[in-house]
Amino acid sequence: MECLVCKSDKITVKPTKMSDFLAARIFEGEEASKRHDVNLCHCEDCSFSFYDRRLTDEEAERLYRDYRGEEYQKTREKYDCWYTEKVNRALNSDKLVLSEQKRVITEMINDSVPGEIKVALDYGGNRGETFTEQIGTEEKYVYDISGIQPIDGIKAIRNYSGLSEHRFDFIMCNMTLEHVSYPADFMKLLYDAGDEDTYYYLEVPSENPFEQSKFSISKNIRLLFNKNYSKIRLVKHYFYLRTQPYMPMSEHINFFTPKALETLLKRCGFEAVNIRENFEENVMGKNKVLSAVFKKSK
Ligand SMILES: [Zn+2]
Repeated sequence: MECLVCKSDKITVKPTKMSDFLAARIFEGEEASKRHDVNLCHCEDCSFSFYDRRLTDEEAERLYRDYRGEEYQKTREKYDCWYTEKVNRALNSDKLVLSEQKRVITEMINDSVPGEIKVALDYGGNRGETFTEQIGTEEKYVYDISGIQPIDGIKAIRNYSGLSEHRFDFIMCNMTLEHVSYPADFMKLLYDAGDEDTYYYLEVPSENPFEQSKFSISKNIRLLFNKNYSKIRLVKHYFYLRTQPYMPMSEHINFFTPKALETLLKRCGFEAVNIRENFEENVMGKNKVLSAVFKKSK
């Protein structure tokens, strides 16, 4: 076993399994209800954490198909009883999460990106809702292969080769890297989409599952005061979690610390201009995110 970020073999392992939700979503028939053992791994050199089981393209496609749609919600509620229709609706219509993300991006750009951003790309940017006035004053593009219609003023690029027809001052990629099976390969795709003057922006959750439990008491107490959650279901879910091994594998399969992200950038031919942690509010609570502005190394 070697680290997916720095290739170190100094890996600490915690045995766990795929979450029941993940198994139900990506497998069919008997496989879906079986236990699938995996290891949660932590690199002692760069502090990156990851599961040793990676999803194939087909599995990832099944997991994210009609994401947060009706079937997704029903399957999820079956295992995560707190994930009601109300919670799903709140997440799907969360305006706060978007405005918070824009606030952080704006701060990072103001601090670290000099000059005007005339032509900009949101890589995997869905409908292009993350653009601000400042990003792409002349042209705004999303690279999105799902076929979803972008909002007014945004142009969609539907295949990877189409990216080479443009020169971008700025390329951003938000909340994606924590889901991809091969982060270094993914970064290579970003690398090839820009040139030596392009500024890049990346955002991922800031997480270290080996430092502190994701299900810490303080985090859970806060949830009890959030009107979107049913208190009874939260308590029920707490007892369900106690029957489960530590942090079963679910949607996030990579966990980045500032050091891990910086190490990945270096390995992939980039140099960090600014990496820092920020807090972003959303309807369900508050997330610690990791924001990075970076360029290709000279
Ligand atoms: Zn490492």
